[in-house]
Amino acid sequence: MTEYRRLRVALLGAGAVGSQVADLLRKHADELADRAGAALDLVGIAVRDPDAPREVDLPRELFTTDAEQLIIGADIVIELMGGIEPARTYILQALNSGADVVTANKALLASHGPEIFDAADQVGASVYYEAAAAGAIPIIRPLRDSLAGDRVQRIMGIVNGTTNYILDRMDREGSEFADVLADAQALGYAESDPTADIEGYDAAQKAAILASLAFHTAVPLTAVHREGITHVDKWVMDAARHAGYVVKLLAVCERIVGGTPGEHGGDAISVRVYPALVPREHPLASVRGANNAVFVQAEAAGNLMFYGAGAGGVQTASAVLGDVVSAARRHIAGGVGVGESTRANLPVLPIGRVTTRYQITLEVSDEPGVLATVAGILSDGRVSIATVEQTVLTHGNGDPGVARIVIGTHRALEQDLSETVDRLAASGVVGRVVSVLRVEGD
Ligand code: NAP
Repeated sequence: MTEYRRLRVALLGAGAVGSQVADLLRKHADELADRAGAALDLVGIAVRDPDAPREVDLPRELFTTDAEQLIIGADIVIELMGGIEPARTYILQALNSGADVVTANKALLASHGPEIFDAADQVGASVYYEAAAAGAIPIIRPLRDSLAGDRVQRIMGIVNGTTNYILDRMDREGSEFADVLADAQALGYAESDPTADIEGYDAAQKAAILASLAFHTAVPLTAVHREGITHVDKWVMDAARHAGYVVKLLAVCERIVGGTPGEHGGDAISVRVYPALVPREHPLASVRGANNAVFVQAEAAGNLMFYGAGAGGVQTASAVLGDVVSAARRHIAGGVGVGESTRANLPVLPIGRVTTRYQITLEVSDEPGVLATVAGILSDGRVSIATVEQTVLTHGNGDPGVARIVIGTHRALEQDLSETVDRLAASGVVGRVVSVLRVEGD
């Protein structure tokens, strides 16, 4: 048997992901040593309660509540506690003591990424975070390494499994949002407090991480435009299906060529999360259940799609262990760490300066001239109509009935569109703006 140098691996957290990482590190120790070129000794696991029941059997003597002590002398620290503090403090401590860090903590990286990457740069250490976006799916390395010689133009990601599960069931079963959410909670697909998922916060964190890598620019979480899926109802789903679309919560990261004309005339970027209409023939439309997928368009590579499990303890552990092997190899070889390139430093545009296509659904009174008034307001607002479909909902008894108009637009500036929608709502002919959805991927 090959005698390898031994590396001390400290694990912070033994929950859904951490317990699986600990288990696989122990079960596959020989194989991992051969691949890493170093024996990976799990020297301890920091948790809050060492006696809490775990998903897998792990020796009690590995557990401690003293994370700081565990970090001292570690070569690789795996942070799987989640949250901002104390994870941030422990990661900085680990880097400052010369350890490489592996983490799956999207919340921390999206809010404190630059601080952590700077700390790693200062000491020549590395931070690996393949599991921080889209769980088991390899997407961080492809963006950071494989596509480092290309120019990414656009990323569209289904990066939140819970919302995809809900939207997929609504689409397939014709069910209402609240019913599917309750079911998803009962089945464990959604948390008892689902806010982070259904309001798009989780997807926004991942969007910030992906955009930072893709565009070599530190994208703060505050620059990500975010909308959730709570207003997507059965009617919106039915209308989408009828028009040949499916509704998906998308993280869109886009390079806007010449997006800063008044300033340097250079490119800009937009990073946004919202429910969007995706054509049924687009590869993202076929992403079912709680799966994730990231669709990347690059100048030279063309279209690429990465697909698979976006969460799950053992699935996410796969991505974490890949990082541990990389960290071990680098630790043995020495030299500079993987580093983050943020030199492009592109401006992030506010949502108002983005252009997309839209589908606007209005409830109007079913009278002559209404459609012409609506068309006039759109045209005055520089929003050009591509398609119109009208359905009579109720026939009035002497009075005008109610009709629903679904308008597909050509590409329009978001700011023009939102001002136009406000004008429509105030026009007197529109009873209700039922929904305004962007169309992506066509
Ligand atoms: P989890 O099940 O809640 O486990 C968290 C673990 O951290 C627990 O073992 C907990 O100890 C420990 N911990 C929390 N605060 C601590 C503290 N102050 N001091 C010491 N230990 C502490 O979390 P998870 O689902 O495994 O997620 C871990 C990370 O992976 C998160 O950043 C998450 O966003 C990310 N992630 C998770 C998934 C997934 O499918 N679950 C997918 C992708 C990424 P006790 O056990 O004693 O309570």
